[in-house]
Formats: sequence, structure tokens, C-alpha cells
Amino acid sequence: MQNKTLVMKFGGTSVGSVAALTKAAEIVKSARADFARVVVITSAMSGVTNLLLDCAALAAQGKVDSLPNTESRLKEKHFTAADALIKDEILRNAVKQEISDLIFSFVDLCKAIAILGEASPRAMDAVASIGERMSVRLLAAVIESAGVKAQAIASTEFVVTNAHYQNAHPDFKATTEKTRALLNPLMDAGIVPVTTGFIGATPEGVITTLGRGGSDYSAAIIGSVLPADDVWIWTDVDGVMTTDPRIVKDAQTLPEITYSEIAELAYYGAKVLHPKTIRPVVDAGIGLRICNTFNPSHPGTRLIANAKINGKVDGKVVKAVTAIRSQRLVTIEGRGMLGVPGVAARAFGAVASTKTSVPLITQASSEQSICFAVPSESAASVINALQSVFAREIEDEDIDRVWMTEDVSIVTVVGVGMRHTPGVSGKVFSQLGNNHVNVLAIAQGSSEVSISFVVEAADTENAVKALHEMIVNK
Ligand code: ADP
Ligand code: ASP
Ligand code: MG
Repeated sequence: MQNKTLVMKFGGTSVGSVAALTKAAEIVKSARADFARVVVITSAMSGVTNLLLDCAALAAQGKVDSLPNTESRLKEKHFTAADALIKDEILRNAVKQEISDLIFSFVDLCKAIAILGEASPRAMDAVASIGERMSVRLLAAVIESAGVKAQAIASTEFVVTNAHYQNAHPDFKATTEKTRALLNPLMDAGIVPVTTGFIGATPEGVITTLGRGGSDYSAAIIGSVLPADDVWIWTDVDGVMTTDPRIVKDAQTLPEITYSEIAELAYYGAKVLHPKTIRPVVDAGIGLRICNTFNPSHPGTRLIANAKINGKVDGKVVKAVTAIRSQRLVTIEGRGMLGVPGVAARAFGAVASTKTSVPLITQASSEQSICFAVPSESAASVINALQSVFAREIEDEDIDRVWMTEDVSIVTVVGVGMRHTPGVSGKVFSQLGNNHVNVLAIAQGSSEVSISFVVEAADTENAVKALHEMIVNK
């Protein structure tokens, strides 16, 4: 056994059923044979976070009719697994009681939200946290039943964050101290700490979340502060693939991917890894592997610092294609903008005031328009902010209009080899053209690791399929 530390995170589907939990416990058991110290991080059971948040959103509109149904679905899901997999009766009953209490507090929270008629980001985080706080108890007991000493511990005890609810940022210094103080003694005693992904707490102890899909980030935070030697993300596919296998069935696993490639892929929609996961592990020099709970003998994907010759792995320049849906293109246009300094700064200042981040920007060289993408749900407030910041220019007709498209998608191709290979964008655009996909806007990442382009929502699948075809057939 190596005297090394391994952090393993199990995603929602990996703890979402009796079969999945059985696999997860076997995985922990076999990792324990190889690693002296193992920390397990869990997501909520699949579907649970959405169920909780949807119910709270309805409560905010005064609608509580679905509460009893949600309550029984949550009980059923967790209790079925507890009954099947927790052998010790006392432990099983204790876990079921704790889960019942959490469901009870969820119902209470929803009733309070309904009375107030609104759900603050802080309240939504309290609601969302319940999924992981239930699954952590279940998974710890299931691991224990599989013969490995394990203890559930809430990450709210040691992941310290700011109070930016729904997208909290960790305080790495405080988190380091607390994580080591709480987890090291357990591991020294041969116990596997099983902790909640996704959630943390402010220094005052108020629960926060790290953003949707954030339990990958939890694994990176905890892995980097311990520090661990390796972080393994267990999910429901064989690692990072050439594209989302839900769009293209014959997507292939990439055995290796560089930090910059995965960063672009994750940022531009590949849900397999939360984009914030990468930085802490890179900074701490920790290994990262993405692997399949349902196919554990598959090596999955390893993150590497640098690609081989000219960035080409297996001779491929473009390695993967991804898409983010539900975006709008916002355009500010007017002949009066020509040569006027500060228009872009004011435009993006206005966007920032709405707390919207901009995934893609293009500007025509004529300086007569600025065009950028924003998530559809923020588009109306962005347009309002722009109209008010440029009210004078609009009145003077220096700016003719500020407008947005219908829903569009950003499709991105990724590969570090693009940097050294001329003609890639030509091939990409011919492939799109040949498949009748109309490109509305283009942007190339300054690192030249990716090219992104905007297509109409209806063309998303076609664009991804066509580019995937190009990737695998080259
Ligand atoms: P988990 O609950 O384990 O965190 P997620 O659903 O968040 O799992 O992420 C895994 C999913 O990411 C896969 O089921 C797959 O549909 C999707 N995905 C999107 N792009 C890719 C890609 N390039 N490679 C692998 N999976 C991808
Ligand atoms: N359960 C959380 C979510 O659904 C976090 C995660 O699964 O990563 O967003
Ligand atoms: Mg995920």
C-alpha cells in the first residue's frame, strides 16, 4: 500500500441508486487497498438538487402543493438505498432518522419561503445543501457496511467561503487549516472521511454553495489543501470524451488531456468537469483523473501538463467539440461609435453591473459594432443596463441600436495542436458550411487552444455532429 492520499469524488449518478452505491463502495474498498489515506466526496443523489430547488422556487410563488409529493420521493429514494445496503440495523435506523430530519427541515424551509413569498440566494443555498447532507450519511454508512471504516462529516465544518451565495468563493487559508485539523486525525486513525461536495459555510457558519455542479470543485479544493497526491472524479462516462456522448453516441474517450484543453472544454459547456476544478489542482501540482463508476477498470482520462509533439495526441489537432446552449448575442451598433474611446469599457461595465459574465466577444474592425454573448436568462437585464448607460448616445443617434438575437449556442473546438497548425479554422468552417450550419459570430481564444463560434439554437446538434465527424475521421 502506498503511503499516499487520494481524494475521490462521486457524482450524482454514481450515488443515485442501489446499484451505483454498491459500485461506489467497492471502488472505495479497492482504493483503500492501494492508498493509505482516502477522502471521499459525494454529490447529492441524482435529480435531488433539482427537485429541492424546483420545490423551493414554487414555494417562493406561494405554491406548496407539491411539497408532500417531493417529501415522499426524497424519502423513498434514500430509504430504498439505506434498506438495501446498510447491514447494521442500528446504523441503518440512525441514518434514516438523520435523513428524515433533513427532509423535515427542507419542508420547513419551503413553508417559510412560501410565507415570505420570496427565496433569497441564502435561503436557496440552505435548501440546495440538503441533497449532499442526506447523501453523505447514506454513502458513509454504505461504505462502512462494505467493510471499510468510514465517517460522514459535513464540509460546512471546514470549507470556509465568502458570503457570495450560490457561487461562493473559498478562503483557501482558513480552509487549509480546518480541513487538515478535521480530516487528518480521521485518516491517521484509518478512517475514510466521507464529506459533502458542493457546499461550504461562511466564517459565521452560514451554509453556502459553490455553484451548480460544484462538487467537482469541492474535490479540487479539498485535494489541494490537504494536499492529496491524486484527485479522481467518478462520473457516469469513461472520462473526458471527444464530445458529449449524449449528442454523439460514438464519442471516444481522450486518454489524456492538457490543463488548457480541459479548461476550455469545461468553460464552454462540457459538463463532465466543473470549470473551477482545474486551477486548484494545477496550482498544487496534483494529479487529476476522470473515470467511470460503472466501468471502473477503464482508465478514463488523465490530465497532463503538456501535450506531446506539437500538442498532437494521436496525431489529432482538434481533439474535442462542445456546446453551450441558451445564450443570446447582444450587439451595440452605430456609426457614431467609430473612434470614440471608452465605448467598450462602458459597455462591459454595464454588463458587469448586472453580475453577468461574458463567454464570447467579437468586434468588427470597423468599430461600428460590438457583439458579445450572454446567458439567455441575463439578456434582458443586460440590454436594460446598456440602454441606460448609453441613453445619451442613443438619443444623439451615435448608437443606432442595442439589440439581441433569439437563443443561440456557442460551439467550441478544442486542441492545443491548433496553435502550431495553419488552416484549422478553414477546415472547421468548411465542415460547417458543407453541413449547412450558418455561423453568426466567431471568436478564437487568445491561447489558440480553442475556436468558438455562435450558431442558431436549431443548428447546435448538427454543428457538433459535423465537427465530431471531422475529429474522428482525421
Ligand atoms: P456527475 O453527476 O458525475 O458530476 P455530470 O452529469 O455533471 O456528472 O457530468 C457527466 C456528463 O457530462 C456525462 O454524462 C456527459 O453527458 C456530459 N458531457 C458533456 N460533455 C462531455 C465530454 N466532452 N466528455 C464526457 N462527458 C461529457
Ligand atoms: N448536487 C449539486 C448539483 O446538482 C452539485 C454537484 O452535483 O456537483 O449541482
Ligand atoms: Mg457534475
